[in-house]
Amino acid sequence: MNVLENVPLAPLTTFKVGGPARYFAEPKSPSEVSEAVQFARSRNLPLFVLGGGSNLVISDAGWPGLVLKTSISGMDERNENGRVLFDVGAGEEWDRFVARAITRNCAGVECLSGIPGSVGGTPVQNVGAYGQEVAETIASVLTLDLRDGQIRELCAEACGFHYRTSIFNTSERGRFIILRVTYSLTPGGKPRIEYADLKKHFAGFQQTPSLTSTREAVRRIRARKAMLITPGDEDCRSAGSFFKNPVLAAKQYEELTSQAKAKGLQVPSYPALDSQRKVSAAWLVEYSGFSKGYRSGRVGISRKHALAIVNRGEATAADILALKDHIQQRVEQLWGIRLEPEPVFVGF
Ligand SMILES: Cc1cc2nc3c(=O)[nH]c(=O)nc-3n(C[C@H](O)[C@H](O)[C@H](O)COP(=O)(O)OP(=O)(O)OC[C@H]3O[C@@H](n4cnc5c(N)ncnc54)[C@H](O)[C@@H]3O)c2cc1C
Repeated sequence: MNVLENVPLAPLTTFKVGGPARYFAEPKSPSEVSEAVQFARSRNLPLFVLGGGSNLVISDAGWPGLVLKTSISGMDERNENGRVLFDVGAGEEWDRFVARAITRNCAGVECLSGIPGSVGGTPVQNVGAYGQEVAETIASVLTLDLRDGQIRELCAEACGFHYRTSIFNTSERGRFIILRVTYSLTPGGKPRIEYADLKKHFAGFQQTPSLTSTREAVRRIRARKAMLITPGDEDCRSAGSFFKNPVLAAKQYEELTSQAKAKGLQVPSYPALDSQRKVSAAWLVEYSGFSKGYRSGRVGISRKHALAIVNRGEATAADILALKDHIQQRVEQLWGIRLEPEPVFVGF
């Protein structure tokens, strides 16, 4: 396995910002992953695991240690108890796996079509969209445990999946390198058409849409919002949604809605666990003065999605952080809610 030096990281991310990695390796097997870890340990270097770079803001100084880009490939399929299990290498492109699942007429990930990034990145923030999340189909995650160097298979419960979180980005952050993910899908299953945009798309259809037409619809809807990486569309130079939808306790939600009502506004929200409400972060951003197409020098808000901060060209990580801080402050001032960013900040 080759270890390179001073490798620019910006081209390996969707935001296209950030400095270089002091060292860079692309292990293609679990044993190469262990080798790369040994390289970092023997030189006392901090380690960062890179997937598809679609949920990152990398600092302008870059990463002072080793960046390990997981490049383990492979999609194996087996039948078990009426389910189809797919064992997929962490380095596979997520959307290529979704396409494969649909070709095999398996349901469970069709609404997650078009999400950029790697398979190994999906358990980290329990990737979700359009009424589906990977927590529903992940059967297990094969990992290298950096605590003791052992390979460990974690069952879904052990991964602690919740909205945009898992143990991998909370309690056990930095402990595991994901090598492979096993998804359990439903052969011949029906697509999930629950999300409003999808229902609208298929309104008037006589028959249940196929998995293929659901995938196509999701990709089309995503493209309209610049949530599908489309060459030449500068609104895609982002990390997707920049802020998580805040989950509010009943009392906090009441305060927000009465504040909004006093201004003649209605806050979009959805039920969440334990009588909580999930509130639209996009709405909060828009009603704090940052509408679609907002521009601040080299950064701004996507013209197609109020929740995506975009690099308008030649932006730095510092520019992105400055806009993030500005938005957080305004939303907090106006609505009393602190928005939490979704991307991972690396090397700050
Ligand atoms: C246009 C656009 C649209 C998006 N839409 C959605 C969406 O609809 N829903 C959604 O949930 N997300 C969305 N995202 C965010 C992003 O695509 C997902 O979070 C994706 O799963 C990140 O995977 P990645 O491989 O790119 O990870 P990276 O961005 O490379 O890394 C993200 C985090 O995961 C860790 N990581 C990555 N691979 C591994 C591994 N093998 N082992 C251990 N840790 C690892 C990294 O260390 C880092 O902490 C969108 C992003 C963009 C740019």
